[in-house]
Amino acid sequence: LGYFAGIGKASSKGILVKGSNYLEAISKAKVVLFDKTGTLTKGQFEVTRTEPAGMSKDELLRYAAYAESNSNHPIAVSVRKAYGADIDQSQITQCSEIAGKGIKAVISGATVLCGNSRLMADYSINCPEANGTVLYVAVDNKYAGLIEIADMPKEHSAEAVKMLKNHGVKVVMLTGDNKSAAAAAAEKLGITDYYAELLPENKSEITLKMKSELPDNEKVMFVGDGINDAPALTAADTGIAIGAGTDVAIDAADVVLMKSRLSDVPAAIRMS
Ligand code: ADP
Ligand code: MG
Repeated sequence: LGYFAGIGKASSKGILVKGSNYLEAISKAKVVLFDKTGTLTKGQFEVTRTEPAGMSKDELLRYAAYAESNSNHPIAVSVRKAYGADIDQSQITQCSEIAGKGIKAVISGATVLCGNSRLMADYSINCPEANGTVLYVAVDNKYAGLIEIADMPKEHSAEAVKMLKNHGVKVVMLTGDNKSAAAAAAEKLGITDYYAELLPENKSEITLKMKSELPDNEKVMFVGDGINDAPALTAADTGIAIGAGTDVAIDAADVVLMKSRLSDVPAAIRMS
């Protein structure tokens, strides 16, 4: 009866728990791992600066928007918004998304790479160092410029981190973003432990390692929103997905926060 009441009460507050065993695991949470982009932060990037190399700003943005035209990554959404114009899909003959790195596409016959420094390194393209989150673009294996983007923490993130810490829970941030963007976000949110530049499999490796270091009665939760978070959501004792996140994350998770508010994480622990 207690489980029924708990799950019912949680769902009335927009916290969907997919089984009573998860309610029990939540009550033993000792470590909470958070994804950054789209989980702790809004995931609504704004383009703050473009720095083309050998082409105009408009051309650079056009290549990026076309490359990102089929992605639902928060970065892709912001690039398309900054571009503003319609995208002629017939110009895009090939397109693949490389998790944690970016996009490779063929646009009007040119091979376009659009992503982070790791993607550029994979194709041996030299690119300048930059602070914060940046998107590098290369056309036909030649560096074509960078697009700087910025994201903001969600309203309830810092408060959620504080509540969890007060509750004796360890908070760690795991992100695929670069070190400087990770450090800036961690500082704003009061998070001291973080890991940056992670691929999806690194997130689940860290989750499994944390799990193995805890006794049986202490549990690890992972909170995430993206396709890249699915392996870690499955690896954790309790996977928590952001309701506004991708379907893959929601499927992989044991708990879904329908209101996409992180203060519902400490609320769920209290309720459990
Ligand atoms: P997080 O772990 O913070 O949610 P992701 O794992 O989704 O971030 O992405 C990690 C990094 O991979 C991003 O910061 C970006 O540099 C790069 N990336 C991923 N997807 C894309 C994309 N569609 N376009 C450009 N870059 C991308
Ligand atoms: Mg994310």
